[in-house]
Amino acid sequence: MALSELNDRLRFVLVRTSHSGNIGSAARAIRTMGFDRLTLVAPHRFPDPEATALAAGADDVLGNASVQDDLVAGLAGTTFALGLSARRRGVNIPELDPREGVAQALAAARRGEQVALVFGNERTGLENDELSRCHAMIRIPSVDDFSSLNLSQAVQVVAYELRTALLADEAQAPVADIDPDEVPADAEQLERFFTHLEQTLDDIEFHKGRSPVTIMLKLRKLFLRARPELRELRILHGILADAQRMADIAHKKD
Ligand code: SAH
Repeated sequence: MALSELNDRLRFVLVRTSHSGNIGSAARAIRTMGFDRLTLVAPHRFPDPEATALAAGADDVLGNASVQDDLVAGLAGTTFALGLSARRRGVNIPELDPREGVAQALAAARRGEQVALVFGNERTGLENDELSRCHAMIRIPSVDDFSSLNLSQAVQVVAYELRTALLADEAQAPVADIDPDEVPADAEQLERFFTHLEQTLDDIEFHKGRSPVTIMLKLRKLFLRARPELRELRILHGILADAQRMADIAHKKD
Protein backbone atom coordinates (compact mmCIF):
# COMPACT_ATOMS: atom_id res chain seq x y z
CA MET A 1 0.00 0.00 0.00
CA ALA A 2 1.36 3.41 -0.90
CA LEU A 3 2.70 5.35 2.05
CA SER A 4 0.48 8.36 1.40
CA GLU A 5 -2.68 6.26 1.48
CA LEU A 6 -1.54 4.60 4.66
CA ASN A 7 -0.62 7.91 6.23
CA ASP A 8 -4.21 9.09 5.77
CA ARG A 9 -5.45 6.16 7.82
CA LEU A 10 -2.98 6.29 10.71
CA ARG A 11 -2.73 8.77 13.53
CA PHE A 12 -0.38 9.07 16.47
CA VAL A 13 -2.31 10.19 19.55
CA LEU A 14 -0.41 11.64 22.53
CA VAL A 15 -2.51 11.83 25.67
CA ARG A 16 -1.99 14.48 28.39
CA THR A 17 1.65 15.11 27.44
CA SER A 18 3.43 17.08 30.20
CA HIS A 19 6.61 18.14 28.43
CA SER A 20 6.21 20.17 25.25
CA GLY A 21 9.67 19.04 24.19
CA ASN A 22 8.34 15.50 23.91
CA ILE A 23 5.62 16.69 21.55
CA GLY A 24 8.27 18.21 19.30
CA SER A 25 10.48 15.10 19.47
CA ALA A 26 7.49 12.90 18.68
CA ALA A 27 6.65 15.07 15.66
CA ARG A 28 10.21 14.67 14.44
CA ALA A 29 10.12 10.92 15.08
CA ILE A 30 7.02 10.31 12.99
CA ARG A 31 8.13 12.72 10.23
CA THR A 32 11.43 10.85 9.76
CA MET A 33 9.46 7.67 9.11
CA GLY A 34 7.10 9.23 6.57
CA PHE A 35 4.07 9.94 8.78
CA ASP A 36 2.53 13.26 9.68
CA ARG A 37 -0.79 12.89 11.50
CA LEU A 38 -0.49 13.87 15.14
CA THR A 39 -3.37 14.26 17.59
CA LEU A 40 -2.76 15.88 20.98
CA VAL A 41 -5.27 15.13 23.72
CA ALA A 42 -5.23 17.73 26.51
CA PRO A 43 -1.53 18.64 26.18
CA HIS A 44 -0.30 20.64 29.19
CA ARG A 45 1.15 23.34 26.91
CA PHE A 46 0.73 23.63 23.16
CA PRO A 47 1.82 25.38 20.98
CA ASP A 48 5.08 25.97 22.78
CA PRO A 49 8.57 27.12 21.67
CA GLU A 50 10.10 24.01 23.20
CA ALA A 51 7.94 21.78 21.00
CA THR A 52 8.94 23.78 17.94
CA ALA A 53 12.64 23.63 18.86
CA LEU A 54 12.66 19.86 19.36
CA ALA A 55 10.61 19.22 16.23
CA ALA A 56 13.79 20.30 14.42
CA GLY A 57 11.95 21.33 11.27
CA ALA A 58 8.99 18.95 11.41
CA ASP A 59 6.90 22.11 11.66
CA ASP A 60 4.21 20.86 9.30
CA VAL A 61 3.44 18.00 11.67
CA LEU A 62 3.06 20.38 14.61
CA GLY A 63 1.17 22.95 12.55
CA ASN A 64 -1.37 20.37 11.40
CA ALA A 65 -1.66 18.63 14.77
CA SER A 66 -5.23 18.22 15.94
CA VAL A 67 -5.75 19.26 19.57
CA GLN A 68 -8.65 17.66 21.48
CA ASP A 69 -9.98 17.83 25.03
CA ASP A 70 -10.36 14.13 25.68
CA LEU A 71 -9.48 10.75 24.25
CA VAL A 72 -12.96 10.07 22.87
CA ALA A 73 -12.65 13.21 20.73
CA GLY A 74 -9.05 12.27 19.90
CA LEU A 75 -10.24 8.91 18.63
CA ALA A 76 -13.16 10.34 16.62
CA GLY A 77 -13.46 8.53 13.31
CA THR A 78 -11.08 5.74 14.28
CA THR A 79 -12.23 2.13 14.34
CA PHE A 80 -9.07 0.48 15.62
CA ALA A 81 -6.93 1.77 18.48
CA LEU A 82 -3.72 0.35 19.91
CA GLY A 83 -2.53 1.68 23.27
CA LEU A 84 1.18 1.82 24.05
CA SER A 85 1.94 0.84 27.59
CA ALA A 86 4.95 -0.42 29.50
CA ARG A 87 2.66 -2.04 32.03
CA ARG A 88 -0.42 -4.16 31.75
CA ARG A 89 -2.55 -2.17 34.22
CA GLY A 90 -6.00 -3.29 35.34
CA VAL A 91 -7.42 -3.61 31.86
CA ASN A 92 -7.26 -7.08 30.45
CA ILE A 93 -6.83 -6.54 26.71
CA PRO A 94 -4.59 -8.50 24.34
CA GLU A 95 -0.91 -7.60 24.61
CA LEU A 96 1.12 -7.44 21.41
CA ASP A 97 4.78 -6.83 20.69
CA PRO A 98 5.50 -3.86 18.41
CA ARG A 99 5.88 -5.98 15.29
CA GLU A 100 2.60 -7.82 15.76
CA GLY A 101 0.83 -4.61 16.75
CA VAL A 102 2.08 -2.84 13.65
CA ALA A 103 1.03 -5.79 11.48
CA GLN A 104 -2.50 -5.55 12.90
CA ALA A 105 -2.55 -1.77 12.45
CA LEU A 106 -1.51 -2.08 8.81
CA ALA A 107 -4.01 -4.87 8.17
CA ALA A 108 -6.80 -2.68 9.54
CA ALA A 109 -5.64 0.32 7.48
CA ARG A 110 -5.54 -1.88 4.40
CA ARG A 111 -9.17 -2.83 5.04
CA GLY A 112 -10.01 0.85 4.97
CA GLU A 113 -10.13 1.45 8.72
CA GLN A 114 -8.84 4.52 10.54
CA VAL A 115 -6.22 3.47 13.06
CA ALA A 116 -4.90 5.22 16.18
CA LEU A 117 -1.66 4.56 18.06
CA VAL A 118 -2.18 5.95 21.53
CA PHE A 119 0.61 7.05 23.90
CA GLY A 120 0.24 8.03 27.56
CA ASN A 121 1.45 10.76 29.88
CA GLU A 122 5.16 10.70 30.81
CA ARG A 123 4.60 10.05 34.48
CA THR A 124 1.32 8.15 34.71
CA GLY A 125 1.18 6.41 31.32
CA LEU A 126 -2.25 5.49 29.95
CA GLU A 127 -4.92 5.28 32.63
CA ASN A 128 -7.27 2.30 32.80
CA ASP A 129 -10.16 4.19 31.22
CA GLU A 130 -7.90 5.27 28.36
CA LEU A 131 -6.59 1.74 27.75
CA SER A 132 -10.13 0.38 27.94
CA ARG A 133 -10.88 2.33 24.74
CA CYS A 134 -8.14 0.44 22.90
CA HIS A 135 -8.57 -2.87 21.09
CA ALA A 136 -5.16 -4.12 22.21
CA MET A 137 -2.01 -2.81 23.84
CA ILE A 138 1.51 -2.80 22.49
CA ARG A 139 4.35 -3.30 24.95
CA ILE A 140 7.87 -2.58 23.81
CA PRO A 141 9.83 -5.44 25.40
CA SER A 142 12.02 -3.40 27.74
CA VAL A 143 13.59 -4.87 30.90
CA ASP A 144 11.27 -5.43 33.88
CA ASP A 145 13.15 -3.27 36.37
CA PHE A 146 13.44 -0.22 34.06
CA SER A 147 10.64 -0.58 31.56
CA SER A 148 9.61 2.95 30.73
CA LEU A 149 11.01 4.55 27.56
CA ASN A 150 10.94 8.26 26.95
CA LEU A 151 7.61 9.06 25.27
CA SER A 152 9.07 10.26 21.95
CA GLN A 153 11.40 7.27 21.83
CA ALA A 154 8.42 4.95 22.19
CA VAL A 155 6.80 6.86 19.31
CA GLN A 156 9.99 6.39 17.29
CA VAL A 157 10.01 2.63 17.85
CA VAL A 158 6.45 2.29 16.57
CA ALA A 159 6.98 4.64 13.62
CA TYR A 160 10.12 2.71 12.69
CA GLU A 161 8.30 -0.62 12.86
CA LEU A 162 5.52 0.77 10.68
CA ARG A 163 7.97 1.98 8.07
CA THR A 164 9.94 -1.26 8.12
CA ALA A 165 6.79 -3.30 7.63
CA LEU A 166 5.76 -1.02 4.82
CA LEU A 167 9.10 -1.20 3.02
CA ALA A 168 8.97 -4.99 3.29
CA ASP A 169 5.48 -5.04 1.87
CA GLU A 170 6.60 -6.28 -1.54
CA ALA A 171 3.10 -7.01 -2.71
CA GLN A 172 2.08 -3.35 -2.37
CA ALA A 173 -1.44 -4.65 -2.03
CA PRO A 174 -3.91 -2.20 -3.51
CA VAL A 175 -6.19 -0.42 -1.07
CA ALA A 176 -9.56 -2.11 -0.99
CA ASP A 177 -12.69 -0.17 -1.86
CA ILE A 178 -14.56 0.43 1.35
CA ASP A 179 -18.18 -0.42 1.94
CA PRO A 180 -19.03 1.96 4.82
CA ASP A 181 -21.56 -0.52 6.16
CA GLU A 182 -18.89 -3.13 6.65
CA VAL A 183 -16.45 -1.00 8.59
CA PRO A 184 -16.68 -1.40 12.37
CA ALA A 185 -18.34 1.43 14.32
CA ASP A 186 -15.94 4.22 15.25
CA ALA A 187 -14.87 5.30 18.73
CA GLU A 188 -17.64 7.90 19.16
CA GLN A 189 -20.40 5.56 18.02
CA LEU A 190 -19.13 2.93 20.45
CA GLU A 191 -18.94 5.50 23.23
CA ARG A 192 -22.59 6.46 22.66
CA PHE A 193 -23.48 2.78 22.83
CA PHE A 194 -21.57 2.27 26.11
CA THR A 195 -23.31 5.29 27.64
CA HIS A 196 -26.70 3.89 26.61
CA LEU A 197 -25.76 0.43 27.90
CA GLU A 198 -24.62 1.74 31.28
CA GLN A 199 -27.76 3.84 31.63
CA THR A 200 -29.96 0.88 30.71
CA LEU A 201 -28.24 -1.40 33.23
CA ASP A 202 -29.00 1.25 35.80
CA ASP A 203 -32.64 1.55 34.67
CA ILE A 204 -33.23 -2.21 34.91
CA GLU A 205 -31.49 -2.22 38.32
CA PHE A 206 -28.82 -4.60 37.19
CA HIS A 207 -26.11 -3.13 39.41
CA LYS A 208 -27.97 -3.67 42.74
CA GLY A 209 -25.73 -1.30 44.61
CA ARG A 210 -22.48 -2.64 43.12
CA SER A 211 -20.15 -0.27 41.33
CA PRO A 212 -20.77 -0.26 37.56
CA VAL A 213 -17.05 0.26 36.85
CA THR A 214 -15.90 -3.37 36.75
CA ILE A 215 -18.83 -4.68 34.76
CA MET A 216 -18.53 -1.81 32.27
CA LEU A 217 -14.83 -2.58 31.76
CA LYS A 218 -15.73 -6.23 31.06
CA LEU A 219 -18.53 -5.25 28.66
CA ARG A 220 -16.25 -2.78 26.89
CA LYS A 221 -13.72 -5.54 26.39
CA LEU A 222 -16.42 -7.82 24.97
CA PHE A 223 -17.71 -5.26 22.48
CA LEU A 224 -14.27 -4.02 21.47
CA ARG A 225 -13.39 -7.63 20.67
CA ALA A 226 -16.60 -8.11 18.68
CA ARG A 227 -15.99 -4.89 16.70
CA PRO A 228 -19.68 -4.32 15.84
CA GLU A 229 -20.65 -2.46 12.70
CA LEU A 230 -22.88 0.60 12.90
CA ARG A 231 -25.98 -1.29 11.73
CA GLU A 232 -25.36 -3.88 14.47
CA LEU A 233 -25.07 -1.12 17.05
CA ARG A 234 -28.42 0.23 15.85
CA ILE A 235 -30.04 -3.12 16.68
CA LEU A 236 -28.43 -3.10 20.13
CA HIS A 237 -29.58 0.50 20.75
CA GLY A 238 -33.09 -0.63 19.80
CA ILE A 239 -32.99 -3.49 22.29
CA LEU A 240 -31.73 -1.18 25.04
CA ALA A 241 -34.42 1.38 24.30
CA ASP A 242 -37.09 -1.32 24.61
CA ALA A 243 -35.60 -2.55 27.89
CA GLN A 244 -35.69 1.03 29.20
CA ARG A 245 -39.29 1.41 28.10
CA MET A 246 -40.28 -1.80 29.90
CA ALA A 247 -38.39 -0.75 33.03
CA ASP A 248 -40.26 2.54 32.93
CA ILE A 249 -43.61 0.72 32.71
CA ALA A 250 -42.60 -1.57 35.60
CA HIS A 251 -41.62 1.43 37.74
CA LYS A 252 -44.96 3.11 37.09
CA LYS A 253 -46.80 -0.03 38.24
CA ASP A 254 -44.88 -0.07 41.56
N1 SAH B 1 5.38 5.56 34.12
C1 SAH B 1 4.61 5.32 32.95
C2 SAH B 1 5.47 5.43 31.72
C3 SAH B 1 5.09 6.51 30.86
S1 SAH B 1 6.21 6.70 29.51
C4 SAH B 1 4.02 3.94 32.97
O1 SAH B 1 4.51 3.13 33.72
O2 SAH B 1 3.09 3.65 32.24
C5 SAH B 1 5.16 7.56 28.39
C6 SAH B 1 4.51 6.71 27.33
O3 SAH B 1 5.50 6.13 26.48
C7 SAH B 1 3.71 5.55 27.86
O4 SAH B 1 2.42 5.92 28.28
C8 SAH B 1 3.65 4.66 26.61
O5 SAH B 1 2.66 5.11 25.73
C9 SAH B 1 5.04 4.86 26.03
N2 SAH B 1 5.99 3.83 26.50
C10 SAH B 1 7.07 4.00 27.29
N3 SAH B 1 7.69 2.83 27.51
C11 SAH B 1 6.98 1.89 26.84
C12 SAH B 1 7.11 0.48 26.66
N4 SAH B 1 8.11 -0.23 27.22
N5 SAH B 1 6.18 -0.14 25.91
C13 SAH B 1 5.16 0.53 25.33
N6 SAH B 1 5.00 1.85 25.47
C14 SAH B 1 5.90 2.53 26.20
